Amino acid sequence: MSSNKAFNPFEMAQTQFDKVAAILDLDDATRQILRNPLREYHFSIPVRMDDGTTKVFRGFRVQHNDARGPSKGGIRFHPQETVDTVRALAMWMTWKCAVVNIPLGGGKGGVICDPHHLSMKEQEQICRGWVRQMAKNVGPLNDVPAPDVMTNAQHMLWMLDEFEVIHGSKFPGFITGKPVGMGGSLGRTEATGYGVVFTLREALKDLGIRLQDTTAAVQGFGNVAQYAIELYQQLGGKVICVSSWDENDHCSYTFRRKSGIDLRELLKITDKFGGIEKTEAKKLGYEILDGDAWIEQEVDILLPAALENQIRQDNVNKISQKVKVIVEGANGPTTPEADKVIQEKGIFVIPDFLANAGGVTCSYFEQVQSNMNYFWEKDEVLGKLDVKMTAAFHAVSDLAKKRNLYMRDAAYVISVSRVAQACKDRGWV
Ligand code: GLU
Repeated sequence: MSSNKAFNPFEMAQTQFDKVAAILDLDDATRQILRNPLREYHFSIPVRMDDGTTKVFRGFRVQHNDARGPSKGGIRFHPQETVDTVRALAMWMTWKCAVVNIPLGGGKGGVICDPHHLSMKEQEQICRGWVRQMAKNVGPLNDVPAPDVMTNAQHMLWMLDEFEVIHGSKFPGFITGKPVGMGGSLGRTEATGYGVVFTLREALKDLGIRLQDTTAAVQGFGNVAQYAIELYQQLGGKVICVSSWDENDHCSYTFRRKSGIDLRELLKITDKFGGIEKTEAKKLGYEILDGDAWIEQEVDILLPAALENQIRQDNVNKISQKVKVIVEGANGPTTPEADKVIQEKGIFVIPDFLANAGGVTCSYFEQVQSNMNYFWEKDEVLGKLDVKMTAAFHAVSDLAKKRNLYMRDAAYVISVSRVAQACKDRGWV
């Protein structure tokens, strides 16, 4: 997953916002409120390392907007995390919750660290340290964290435990993505990836393409990619390649098998970060191509499901003429420059904060279930998720058709107007 050092995700998020603020002719005060986070926290987390030394990690929480409800969004552990990445992701969370019309705002957290090289004990201290720093400023009624890149249900449980110890009471609604049986929701693990495919299924219906006749190339092999592939293949689609980060070589590779990848077989040779074992993959008949190769495959569907800044000016023209749909499982995978080219090519885009809203939608269901202390069956959760994602997709695609808008702009128009209206109704602007 090569990336350009000068890339600033927050500038990208602001550029996207400015474009829509102009379409909506927003007043200056509303633009100022929405173009920047309402508040943010930067702090240090000291950790006693297993080797006896003390290492200090940098943590963040950005609350972009809470006009529609408590801030909501994950906490990412990543060695290249920056406050501007967290700001961008927080802003995208605001639009994400608004597009699926759930009563939540947007926030994001991060810690600059690399879980590949941290023991569970060290990671536990980071989680507890993060909560110690933020305990007064997060909580079920003001800001609710969740998992993101390289964090999972175990991290959420440590964070919940620390929060409950500090506040001396049980607060299952403080965090989502908890383990099932500990306040978590069935279906939460699958939700983001499945949500991606619910929107893809609807887009293909609209375009008059049979999903069973399509092929896809996937970037990434983490939680989102794995479950998106599972459901897409269950519905009859064929994935011909996935790309995955190789921690030893410090680069990513594309694993291609033109007859179709076998998810189960690949999972057996994949670590918990989504890293696929090269030698084993070769034995199973996969070609090992460079990390960017996924983008140039002759497929109908491209599914970036890794990090931001992956479809850029320098590689957007490698996209095959055959590609009809790009469904963005990742947050911010396409830069504004590349987006223009994609729009000109006439490729149908399901923008990130719509396509990957399934995770937070299920987090919302988790909060509802936690509040009732009554948990639904998995089918019920996934059924409700499908209804929400399908409705959100059609609201966006109907507006796009009606006003002749690019899908990303239509999604932005819906979200930004909802949030701007909430700010106005509260008397903020
Ligand atoms: N981290 C996920 C996202 O980017 C989920 C956030 C949540 O569940 O709050 O959408």
